[in-house]
Amino acid sequence: MQVPLLDLKPQYAVLKDEILTAIAELCDSQQFILGPAVESFEQNVARYCSAPFACGVSSGSDALLLALMAENIGPGDEVITSAYTFFATAGAICRCGAKPVFVDIDPVSYTIDTALIEAKITPRCKAIIPVHLYGQTADMQAVMALADKYGLCVIEDACQAIGAECRGQRTGAIGHYGCLSFFPSKNLGGFGDAGMVLCRDPERDKLLKILRNHGMAPQYHHKLIGGNFRIDALQALVLDIKLKYLDSWTESRQKNYADYCALLSDCPEIICPEIAAWSTRHVMNQFVIRLTGGRRNQVWEGLKAAGIGCAVYYPVPLHLQECFQSLGYREGDCPASEAAANETLALPIYPELSHIQKKYVADTLLSLVKG
Ligand SMILES: *Cc1c(COP(=O)(O)O)cnc(C)c1O
Repeated sequence: MQVPLLDLKPQYAVLKDEILTAIAELCDSQQFILGPAVESFEQNVARYCSAPFACGVSSGSDALLLALMAENIGPGDEVITSAYTFFATAGAICRCGAKPVFVDIDPVSYTIDTALIEAKITPRCKAIIPVHLYGQTADMQAVMALADKYGLCVIEDACQAIGAECRGQRTGAIGHYGCLSFFPSKNLGGFGDAGMVLCRDPERDKLLKILRNHGMAPQYHHKLIGGNFRIDALQALVLDIKLKYLDSWTESRQKNYADYCALLSDCPEIICPEIAAWSTRHVMNQFVIRLTGGRRNQVWEGLKAAGIGCAVYYPVPLHLQECFQSLGYREGDCPASEAAANETLALPIYPELSHIQKKYVADTLLSLVKG
């Protein structure tokens, strides 16, 4: 049996007619840049995320960069983030000229260990970017308390976690900014790259919308240097259609999570993902197990040989990436991140996974581990 890590085709098959009809209409209008499709999608995502404002942008990476630019964060500034996340979180900090400061993760939730943040705050620190990894939020109450105490800006990296909740509050509108990605593999995926910056403050929203369009306001007048960070109207149109189905897809992901946990419950060697105490809605972007005792790579090979798609997110924590060598981190600086990089493995959890497929993944995994 073949079980891919992600299969987007069944989702498309259901929506094909609806999407292609809408695309045909947009093509007839030839309104490809901003306009009503973008505005409609922004309003709908803002409502979905309980955020007052939303600014559609070119990608999740650019959403992070734009939020940093809107805060005027640059050379000489420091930004605290998790050592265990996709590269783009730290890449955005460097792209605006600031310095990333890496904090280790809590080994159970894989999100930033909020007990370790305060020791890393210097007078140069301007912001914290907590990452809501695999569909589960970081402990935002702890992050916001520190941000208030030190006057720091909080930019939530919610690229993997649209619709997730922390103590009943929806991600993206808890911090000063929330960044979303609509990369095809995210829970709400476009037909290419797209992203969004959420915020609660009208002045910040106004600034984001000027900066995403070359800092231009009014036309051909530039008080600020922005860039071209606009979302394509075509992406907004497709995503606006898909948004209506997001809750049902999330429910299927949550069902897959429960099924895997039940199927794997008798095997103490396989540690299933846990839902943190603060995490009141986990949207299950990834199902990441932990295999201790140095057996991860062998199991990974075994699953691949059995036709099961799986992946390691992420094999090298950020503090040990070659491009950050000059920051002076060493192995051992973020032990929980390093352990996660060596011990974790993501299994297929996409909504359309059948029970037979889940059973096959679980049985194969169990036989490999018990070997
Ligand atoms: C996907 C992702 C991003 C970047 O999003 P893109 O739309 O691919 O640029 C940033 N941070 C995290 C945690 C992500 O998973």
